Amino acid sequence: MNEIRNNKTEVIVVGGGPAGISCAVTIARAGHEVILIERGSFSGSKNVFGGAIYAQPTREIFPNFEKEAPIERLNVEHKFAILGEDDSTVISYRHKDLRNTGYSVIRGKFDRWMAEEAKKEGVIIAEETVVRELIIENEKVVGVKTELEEYYADIVVLADGVNSLLAKQIGFRETIEPKDVALSVKEVIKLDREKINERFNLNDDEGCIYELFGGPMKGMLGLGFLYTNKDSVSIGLGVGLDALCDKNLKPYELLDKLKEHPSISPLIKDGELLEYSAHLIPEGGYKKIPTLSGAGVMIAGDAAMLVNNLHWEGTNLAMISGKLAGETAVTALAKCDFSEKMLAKYPEALEKSFVMKDLRTYRNLMDEAHNRNDSFMGYYLEQVNGFFNMFTTVDSIPKRRKFRRFIFDFVRKRNIIELFKDAISAFKLFWSILIK
Ligand SMILES: Cc1cc2nc3c(=O)[nH]c(=O)nc-3n(C[C@H](O)[C@H](O)[C@H](O)COP(=O)(O)OP(=O)(O)OC[C@H]3O[C@@H](n4cnc5c(N)ncnc54)[C@H](O)[C@@H]3O)c2cc1C
Repeated sequence: MNEIRNNKTEVIVVGGGPAGISCAVTIARAGHEVILIERGSFSGSKNVFGGAIYAQPTREIFPNFEKEAPIERLNVEHKFAILGEDDSTVISYRHKDLRNTGYSVIRGKFDRWMAEEAKKEGVIIAEETVVRELIIENEKVVGVKTELEEYYADIVVLADGVNSLLAKQIGFRETIEPKDVALSVKEVIKLDREKINERFNLNDDEGCIYELFGGPMKGMLGLGFLYTNKDSVSIGLGVGLDALCDKNLKPYELLDKLKEHPSISPLIKDGELLEYSAHLIPEGGYKKIPTLSGAGVMIAGDAAMLVNNLHWEGTNLAMISGKLAGETAVTALAKCDFSEKMLAKYPEALEKSFVMKDLRTYRNLMDEAHNRNDSFMGYYLEQVNGFFNMFTTVDSIPKRRKFRRFIFDFVRKRNIIELFKDAISAFKLFWSILIK
């Protein structure tokens, strides 16, 4: 922080994740002084994700990342597995056009690389520094207080992740409710590269993603995941915090059950546990997005609840929101105008981007999912496995009898009123996604 003259700079960005780095590098490239403050000993040291980064949005920030960044594997296959007690149904899609798929990365390496690139472009990075609070003068954010000092800036960008205590301090965000976050636990398991390629049917540096439904998360708003890295796999799950509290469930016990599932355990057999981590995922969706800008301040990434949980997209929304906040800061600096009105150009730009368009498309998803999670995340998943069990079992019972029995049981077990409510809920959801 010695570089800062009189503790005053043009822009301070709080948080060195994808949102903060993308914002800071955009500002530095335009020739302005920007300081990025990260509480971890380096960017990525405190970050947890599944995970895949997505090629196209990452290229928008770092055009050469595919050649230069520490990437694990190019994801060529995407599997959706519905887990029953001890059976499963898997749909698998092998990508045809690999240009816009994603890469598995390890955040400790990847975020660190992004931060080093940002430094090369002029961003001043202060690591191991925690911003405790924002400094407000005349209803404008004018700086930050760290443990040791106060720093002043024309603009402060909050990219401090899901908890964003700073957004709360200025009243932009309420305390997060348990139903608006998922608690996620993850293990990284070491496995030989050859074993990974063999078990997941991959060549060289090809990668595979599993999205896991049901199993230990049955009936709850929660999903499991498995990503292949170079010589490890990341396996984990995220479940709504409200469901975990209501049912008094421990997420690591659910993860143990997931790892023991007969369709999963052979994939990680003889692996060695390298790392265990837990993190929250913002799940509030469009309706829970906080105020995104005010005089002297903007909010990006997870701090702004910008996560598309249906598509497992978070880093891309963080990067693009960070970039748009950075571009707004550059315009504001050129005009020497840091007013609420000027910085409102950031949410306006977000509204026009895919970020808000997508989140708006899914604005009713979480409400419907919360209302009917025992159906959509429980009963119907069970029925898919039940159907394939019936379809593939050869037992000399006539097929017509089996089909009729399946349909009869399907209606009887759920009851007609609940089926009707599910149908209405699904219709409402499709209507809001596709039409209005
Ligand atoms: C288990 C899990 C799996 C996921 N899988 C995927 C996936 O596969 N693909 C995907 O795109 N997204 C995924 N996500 C979501 C994705 O990780 C986030 O959306 C993304 O990291 C958000 O980036 P960000 O920069 O906004 O926040 P973060 O990455 O959380 O970065 C915030 C940074 O701010 C720092 N910070 C916080 N407070 C302070 C402070 N007061 N002072 C200084 N620094 C501070 C933190 O140390 C951190 O480095 C996953 C998330 C989880 C938890």
